[in-house]
Amino acid sequence: MKFYVLTLFPEMFGNAVKGSILGRAIEKDLISIEEINIRDFSHDKKHGKVDDYPYGGGAGMVMQAEPIYDAFMYVKEKAGHDMRLIYLTPQGSVFSQSKAHEFAMEEDVCLLCGHYEGVDERVIEEIVTDRISIGDYVLTGGELPAMVMIDAIARLVPGVLHNDESSSTESFENGLLEYPQYTRPEEWRGRKVPDILLSGHHANVEKWRAEQSIIRTKMYRPDLIKE
Ligand code: SAM
Repeated sequence: MKFYVLTLFPEMFGNAVKGSILGRAIEKDLISIEEINIRDFSHDKKHGKVDDYPYGGGAGMVMQAEPIYDAFMYVKEKAGHDMRLIYLTPQGSVFSQSKAHEFAMEEDVCLLCGHYEGVDERVIEEIVTDRISIGDYVLTGGELPAMVMIDAIARLVPGVLHNDESSSTESFENGLLEYPQYTRPEEWRGRKVPDILLSGHHANVEKWRAEQSIIRTKMYRPDLIKE
């Protein structure tokens, strides 16, 4: 799967989404991440300006429509086909594991990172297919949300996780939180690993984990139980 990112700060993407498990996936050519600097499409060749004051007044600057439009046309031409353009915005629908699955089915997606006061509404109306938020709070830019999305989507691409890192039992996959996890030593500061996990009885371990999943979802995320 290929991720294109339209951003004013391409350098932010370095190791954050190109190391560890995703780094391995990039090496294996299972995914790729390409940042496109919106400033390269500025019509102001001298200063590389891509933002301007908001009509009607008010604080901050607004990213102009044309450089974003041109950057996306460049991406589509390079890919040789149309694709979903996701605008990261606190005004979007909230990102979730099911949305990550939905996007992971795509051959490629393009992510648009806003900055300052955001983006001229007209370019959003013209080319954006999805408006996605990562939660009800406001960040300075769309770069961190884009990285969050890339990480969550990429790990669902077949082959990115090894079998032993499988995502299928993880939180939200079946509408519940995952059971608690333990590793060596068997006892740490007086806290023991539950006996059942040392029993070697696979069926009982599975039953215990299923129960724990429900218990902790009720405890920490009762809203999920309602759903
Ligand atoms: N003026 C905008 C508003 O009130 O809705 C907020 C702009 S915010 C300061 C700048 C950029 O950060 C946005 O264009 C968006 O790309 C990104 N951003 C901020 N919070 C976000 C969130 N919760 N989810 C996704 N993107 C976010």
